[in-house]
Amino acid sequence: MKSTSENLNPFAIAQSQLDEAADVLGLDENMHMFLRQPMREFHFTIPVRMDDGRVRTFNGYRVQYNDARGPAKGGIRFHPDETIDTVRALAAWMTWKTAVADIPLGGGKGGIICNPRELSPGELERLSRGYIRNISRYVGLRQDVPAPDVNTNPQIMGWMLDEYEVLNGAHEPGVITGKPIELGGSAGRGAATSLGGIFAIREAAKTVGLETQGASCAIQGYGNVGSGTHKFAIEILGMKVVALSDEFGGIYNEEGFSVKEVVSHLKQNGRLQGLAGSTEISNPDLLELDVDVLIPAAIENQLTGQNADRIKAKIIAELANGPTTPDADDVFNEKGIFVIPDFLCNAGGVIVSYFEMVQNTSNFYWEEDEVNERLDKKMTTAFKAVIEMAENEEVPNRVAAYLVAIDRVAQAARLRGWV
Ligand code: GLU
Repeated sequence: MKSTSENLNPFAIAQSQLDEAADVLGLDENMHMFLRQPMREFHFTIPVRMDDGRVRTFNGYRVQYNDARGPAKGGIRFHPDETIDTVRALAAWMTWKTAVADIPLGGGKGGIICNPRELSPGELERLSRGYIRNISRYVGLRQDVPAPDVNTNPQIMGWMLDEYEVLNGAHEPGVITGKPIELGGSAGRGAATSLGGIFAIREAAKTVGLETQGASCAIQGYGNVGSGTHKFAIEILGMKVVALSDEFGGIYNEEGFSVKEVVSHLKQNGRLQGLAGSTEISNPDLLELDVDVLIPAAIENQLTGQNADRIKAKIIAELANGPTTPDADDVFNEKGIFVIPDFLCNAGGVIVSYFEMVQNTSNFYWEEDEVNERLDKKMTTAFKAVIEMAENEEVPNRVAAYLVAIDRVAQAARLRGWV
């Protein structure tokens, strides 16, 4: 067991991951120092008129971590535990994500400290519009393009788009991605993170020699990404999804869960536990199950020095951002667990966001099959670049992903004459 005093500040973790990779890469010290910090950040308050007449003041952030390769890009999270450091870390990971996926974008992230479950639809709409009012001058197709993330969705993107367009007096659908299809969203965007993750798992299984047909998997988190992954794991890879969880707890059935039974149970009960024929397990228990593929698809810091030595999966597919701490990484490397690092594994969302921006710019929309085919190509190419780097440099996959990404971002910063 590792030390109990592991630093769980996500930005400290993001910086230490960068430091390790910079060391392996022999990155120039000036460039290293430049890449260790966000280029710009915005901190603001959002006063919202609540339904009872009171005005509540929320805190919002937008971090534009690095835009050397193109406009900043990344989602907006609504979460009660949001902090500027979580947003900074997530914005850094977006920078490495767009670079490893090789799309012409930088990295950014936004957040509001709030619990959306406690807000009425009207309050949520006013909060979303207030967020955009604060940053409208600093976002846009050529500056910074937000998208959904934890607890935000296409409807929220629709309100934000509308607010931006009203302020600017023109249609500008490419200012935000993950929009409803009716407002210029891309076919396939909703499922893109999950589908991209499934393509990555398919490639990882080939690499380690795992037959996915009938292989067992456990998914932590049942939001947009977790639920989509459940569906595609069965449909595309023929896997048996034996465990699932949401914020209230998890369920297990060694025979596997069908999407249909879970969706109809959720519709009636609002939570996974209580599903007929399932055993209740906790979120930590789910992570330690003896499964072939473990898919953290919730939030950061789930696999730590505290539980890493009890993880039994052969492949860990990080569909969440930042689920694994550096102490856990050390253990997984020692044990030979094949980790598909987050900013590679979950790049599908931002890849299709990029396709959405392209479609908005040309005002010509693609069929879903075309989107998915291009997504597969991008994910597979990114996966191969990382694995090749890992083999050539004899480093873990996460370090390899950093090497690929840092090199691309540093090259752009150099060519601009910044460093
Ligand atoms: N929030 C997603 C992520 O973390 C998508 C970001 C985007 O599409 O810009 O990758």
